[in-house]
Amino acid sequence: MAGAPEDVDTDDCLSSYTHVYSADLLKDQVAFITGGGSGIGFRIAEVLMRHGCDTAIASRNPEKLSEAARKLTAATGRRCLPLQMDVRQPDTISAAVDETLKQFGRVDILINNAAGNFLCPASSLSFNAFRTILEIDTMGTFNTSKVIYDKWFKDHGGSVVNISATLGYRGQALQVHAGSAKAANDAMTRHLAVEWGPSGVRVNTVAPGPISGTEGYRRLGGPTAERTESFRNIPLQRAGNKTEMAHAVLFLASRAASYVTGATLVADGGAWFTSANDVERLLGIFSSHSAKL
Ligand code: NAP
Repeated sequence: MAGAPEDVDTDDCLSSYTHVYSADLLKDQVAFITGGGSGIGFRIAEVLMRHGCDTAIASRNPEKLSEAARKLTAATGRRCLPLQMDVRQPDTISAAVDETLKQFGRVDILINNAAGNFLCPASSLSFNAFRTILEIDTMGTFNTSKVIYDKWFKDHGGSVVNISATLGYRGQALQVHAGSAKAANDAMTRHLAVEWGPSGVRVNTVAPGPISGTEGYRRLGGPTAERTESFRNIPLQRAGNKTEMAHAVLFLASRAASYVTGATLVADGGAWFTSANDVERLLGIFSSHSAKL
């Protein structure tokens, strides 16, 4: 990919990495990353750790988290704490944050990355499915932010980066659940930036476009779209990669963005301006997935 930094499609660390920021940008800081055991969250953890940070990676699947933590520490030499929790259950978040503070003594950065998604027309979407996505994406982001604010950021300041999406900007077909959830999160970014700014807390968002090497990309038809050359419609004419998302997050999380709060950084190669809202193609992916269930 011309112009893109190193990446690998699997949930493994990079075999080589070229720093674009100073390697000690986050020296001795601590980041708490929801969904840090896979996909974009895994690469965010790796890139933050390559800049001197220790991390806690938190989600539901303990085996996946332990394996990810092992790989991340081996590649970066920094500590990584795998923590089982569900962003829908505040008591599990509270226990995970307590453990992070016990092990590391501080939290400087929160990355709200955990989310769920699938393609489904609104008319086929069950009430329960819509509620579940809102609970994970939106309630989960609020729950985790509030727990960390109450336990640490309120008295010490900090930086929150929410991982959003561009789905709601143009009413992406078959995505009313995720688009609505992320739109609520974008508003939450601004509300919390205003309320928590006086406590020294910055709250920002990165909104990725289609990102290769992720479960979402595979399931939402990214490779098919690449084969049919529909990426030609994107101004930068390619998918983004996970390292590029991690670099956008690193900017907002770090002192490089010390006067930035309430912002949404769209990192999508310009895709949402020009990409077709291709209902026929998406319905094709939806029916082939449904047929396999
Ligand atoms: P992914 O690998 O499926 O990551 C989602 C993570 O969230 C998983 O590690 C999962 O871990 C965790 N998670 C899900 N439900 C959870 C829950 N209830 N509690 C705690 N953790 C939970 O997907 P990804 O593609 O990297 O997506 C990462 C972020 O980028 C998401 O916010 C997504 O909306 C956004 N995004 C992705 C793309 C893309 O092209 N991939 C595009 C736009 C936006 P467990 O299963 O262990 O819980």
